[in-house]
Amino acid sequence: MPRYDLKKYYLGSICCRGHNWNSTGHSLRRLSDSDCLDCKPTTQEKQITWKQLPGNRYRAAIDVRFLTESGGTKKHNVKPVPYEDGLPKDWYEVRFDEEYVVEKLRNDVVKPLKTLGYNRFQQLLSKAWQAEK
Ligand SMILES: [Zn+2]
Repeated sequence: MPRYDLKKYYLGSICCRGHNWNSTGHSLRRLSDSDCLDCKPTTQEKQITWKQLPGNRYRAAIDVRFLTESGGTKKHNVKPVPYEDGLPKDWYEVRFDEEYVVEKLRNDVVKPLKTLGYNRFQQLLSKAWQAEK
């Protein structure tokens, strides 16, 4: 059976919608309000940062919204890290920021071309920029 955060959740009676958590014959419920997690995930539980994305953290596309002060979000179907084994895969709002964009550029663009040197890289970047217009 997958683990779950014992400080936040417990295995209670099956909810009215019949959510059978990992075939345990129970619904996973929040200690704070006894609600079934599959019925009523809280807003907080539905939002994670890109650093909490399991696996490849750089798979999301780059978006200009990520560069605003408040960052931007994209929906991902994941098990977020804090509840990795405790929750079924679900859609989460993942929050991205400038740090993410820089890491994405570094991994996808800079790293494979680094041996060319900065000037050659800039030339190529400039050509790519102009080709886009
Ligand atoms: Zn339920």
